[in-house]
Amino acid sequence: MDGGGVLTRPASPLWAGLRQRCPHCGEAPVFSAYLRLKASCGACGADFRTADAGDGPAVFVILVVGALAAPLVVLLQFVLHWPAWSALGVPMMMAVGLSLALLPIFKATLFALQWAHKARQALNADLEDR
Ligand SMILES: [Zn+2]
Repeated sequence: MDGGGVLTRPASPLWAGLRQRCPHCGEAPVFSAYLRLKASCGACGADFRTADAGDGPAVFVILVVGALAAPLVVLLQFVLHWPAWSALGVPMMMAVGLSLALLPIFKATLFALQWAHKARQALNADLEDR
């Protein structure tokens, strides 16, 4: 059902996600471009079209980056008394850079967790019940 070959030991979803590798074999990259998932694994042939993390990675990135950026604005503005333009500008630049860096990692990790927990089967079963 997972579309991949026979493996003796599946990849850890968290390790595969952090490395942005196939959740089935842990070998080949899952992205063909910045956030574009490949259709299948180049190493084991697992079909990646059956799972999709959707907007989940963006939500987690917003929570993490917001939790870091908001206190930094308060610190720079009211504790260190930076000028307003720099107290807002520095955290905003940090938030953009950190978001762009974290999105592929979070997307690959959520995709790997979906893969490991076979979330796509629950979705398919739910659709078949209708
Ligand atoms: Zn693979």
